Amino acid sequence: MERKYYYCEYCGKKFPDVRTLTSGTCAYHPDGSNKGPHKLYEGTEKSKYTCKYCGKQFPSIQVMVGGQCVNHPNGTNKGRHSPAL
Ligand SMILES: [Zn+2]
Ligand SMILES: [Zn+2]
Repeated sequence: MERKYYYCEYCGKKFPDVRTLTSGTCAYHPDGSNKGPHKLYEGTEKSKYTCKYCGKQFPSIQVMVGGQCVNHPNGTNKGRHSPAL
């Protein structure tokens, strides 16, 4: 069987199963660092991920969320890129 991972939409960390993902707190949570759990990224694993706000492409979610987004709904560079599904 092909090995499958689950990714957090906020920080891009990967987990072997959803339970482990949702039971940990996320350093990139929108309410503040470790103020809430990781959020399951419900899209499929891709070779490139597109930011749903600005359309920029990144090789991984982890790389994407490391940058601030100029088209963020809260304002220019007021938040991180976020992966489209
Ligand atoms: Zn996370
Ligand atoms: Zn963006």
